[in-house]
Amino acid sequence: MAAQILDGKAVSQRIKDELKQEVELLKKDGIKPALAVIIVGDDPASKIYVKNKKLACEYCGIESLEYALPAETTQDELLDLIKKLNNDNNVSGILCQLPLPEGLDEELVINSILPNKDVDAFHPSNVGKIMIGNFDFLPCTPAGVMELIKESGIEVSGKKCVVVGRSNIVGKPMSMLLLHKNGTVTICHSRTKDLKKECKDADILVAAVGVPELITVDMVKEGAVVIDVGMNRLPDKRLVGDVNFAQASQKAAAITPVPGGVGPMTIAMLMKNTVKAASINKTGK
Ligand code: NDP
Repeated sequence: MAAQILDGKAVSQRIKDELKQEVELLKKDGIKPALAVIIVGDDPASKIYVKNKKLACEYCGIESLEYALPAETTQDELLDLIKKLNNDNNVSGILCQLPLPEGLDEELVINSILPNKDVDAFHPSNVGKIMIGNFDFLPCTPAGVMELIKESGIEVSGKKCVVVGRSNIVGKPMSMLLLHKNGTVTICHSRTKDLKKECKDADILVAAVGVPELITVDMVKEGAVVIDVGMNRLPDKRLVGDVNFAQASQKAAAITPVPGGVGPMTIAMLMKNTVKAASINKTGK
């Protein structure tokens, strides 16, 4: 039987519509959410992500401030800009699009953003709070996955969850959020001995690898929920995930498409974090 398609586009649209209303109410209280997005250099994929973020801001009524810096920008110049934005009361959230050009220290940049304006939730202070389970912001992609799971009525508690990928941005926080929802979580990575065996055990399988269609049908358990975080551009320009969708959708109970699954949810969560940051920075809650 064909799987239920977890429609991230539709769910993210609902979230953005709710946020739009929330922003209108906040504005009546004098709170104007504004997101500062810094992009350094001219990586084509980053430019597309930044453009999509800007469009989502416009839709929700969030002011979008774009800082497009040349690839030759020095570390000090970048840190100076972040300092300026940290101190600007009209800026609710700050995001520096990654990856940065060679020579710029990503960790230093992440650490320099005020935790209260860190709408990506990459600052060590926010990462620590996520570990404890008492957080203000969640990283957008794992938060988007959790929201999509919740909206689709999928129960995590007691389920065997397998996350393939252990990056700080997706894999690790994803695992932690599934654990907070009482999943029994296994994290796989490039040194995992038998990836197929681990994946085949999963009731909920999350692929966040960056290898086109790595997850094939023989790695999917009958009736599993399959979440594909991957976004891989093939030489023929097609965008595919980390899961072979055509195969896996014949065996899974539910699956996210690429595009139209996790991608739009990520952007919706960024909007949510920005609105929350605006509120926190003005009212302290
Ligand atoms: P990273 O490259 O930072 O991490 C990839 C992870 O996959 C690593 O932990 C790596 O293991 C593991 N890995 C690599 N190859 C294999 C393999 N053959 N078998 C098992 N594990 C493997 O990527 P990200 O986490 O940043 O992103 C992952 C994917 O998600 C990418 O396609 C990216 O484009 C996409 N993405 C999508 C987003 C969205 O909004 N939909 C947002 C962010 C990312 P090790 O640690 O051992 O090296």
